Amino acid sequence: MKFVSTREKSISYDLSIAIIQGLAPDGGLFVPAQWPKLNIEKKWRDLPLDQFAEKVLTPFFHNDPLLNNLKSICQQSLNIPLPCLEIAPKTQILELFHGPTCAFKDFGARFLASCFNYLQPDVKNQVVLVATSGDTGGAVAAAFSAFTKIPVCILYPHDQVSPRQEQQLTCWGDQVKSLCVEGSFDDCQRLVKEAFVSPHLQSRLKMISANSINLARLLPQMVYFAYTSLKYADSSGTRFIIPSGNMGNAAAALWAKELGFPIAKVIFAHNANKTVTNYFQTGDYQPQKSVSTLANAMDVGHPSNFERILNLYPDHQSLLQFTNAFSVTDTQIKESILFGNSIGQCWCPHTATAAFVRFNHTNAEEPWIIVSTAHPAKFESIVEPIIGKKIAIPQALSDLLQKPSHKTPLAPNLESLITELKKV
Ligand SMILES: *Cc1c(COP(=O)(O)O)cnc(C)c1O
Repeated sequence: MKFVSTREKSISYDLSIAIIQGLAPDGGLFVPAQWPKLNIEKKWRDLPLDQFAEKVLTPFFHNDPLLNNLKSICQQSLNIPLPCLEIAPKTQILELFHGPTCAFKDFGARFLASCFNYLQPDVKNQVVLVATSGDTGGAVAAAFSAFTKIPVCILYPHDQVSPRQEQQLTCWGDQVKSLCVEGSFDDCQRLVKEAFVSPHLQSRLKMISANSINLARLLPQMVYFAYTSLKYADSSGTRFIIPSGNMGNAAAALWAKELGFPIAKVIFAHNANKTVTNYFQTGDYQPQKSVSTLANAMDVGHPSNFERILNLYPDHQSLLQFTNAFSVTDTQIKESILFGNSIGQCWCPHTATAAFVRFNHTNAEEPWIIVSTAHPAKFESIVEPIIGKKIAIPQALSDLLQKPSHKTPLAPNLESLITELKKV
């Protein structure tokens, strides 16, 4: 199978190349040149997730050297429980947070790291560079240190993460260098971008991007939507409400539908960052500066994966046929966390955003699945004061909280980053 950029469609790429490059050379995102015809069998829903993934992903790996490793990649990276529980009449919750760092990012990060383990076994002069303010950094560090020997360099803003978040970014041992940047998340992102285009660094280092636009992160995310839809669809299909920021999960769900899985409707639940919600209302896409909210992993004003969605549905009306988007305010997120508490649920702010949409904007008679993107104990500084009690910490997280941590302060300029990268 071949992949093309969302922009310049005349050049096609193999999967391995697309994974290594991350972003297409013209700045677009890689998408399948043609959608494969998949003969979906209902009995696949009885397979374990990794074997199901192999069935669904084989056409995407066709004619690529990684095809020989697909089975091992799925076995190694997708052994994460995927419970989907009934929490209210006709309402299920799909928990994507049972991986090592308790957020859905584990699925994509582990699949990506496992691919790199086979793609570039010679680790000399390689480094994974990632800017993060939340769940991505920990997931990428955990995955690359579990499956590869490739050094990882995490840049995070020193005043924008809570102590528990910081621990999850700094507890990974010698393979992971955690750089605490004296600046904002935007500074971290700018530094990473500058590093990737710096001729000085390019000549001495192979820099790997692990951000959410990488195909190897999107493909396993498509798999869990496909699997859940096949398992739980009624005669009309499944309906998902997805907490959305950069819209990787959103694109992955639409890709699963494109493959023919029974997905009837998808709603994108956003916080006060309204770029996508406005597009749904007006048909006009206007990126905005991000605003900070309680659901901070979704504080995105210019979602990069939106380009993949437009590529699939260039026409506004065709997208509106089975998708919708809502924005939820911080007050409503709090209200939703309290409502969850009253029905025996404890939600992270992102999950609460999707739950708010379920209980306020959808038909109670229709079955819906709320997608839960992180364990609430990762966001205890927000959730605990609202519900007025402590959240029990899952084992995976308490293991991380007990590890020794180490970090290096970094001035927000490229020279300082280069100095640190010379040491990895
Ligand atoms: C990253 C993240 C999101 C946003 O997901 P996208 O795929 O970027 O839309 C939502 N919730 C949590 C907890 C996250 O970490």
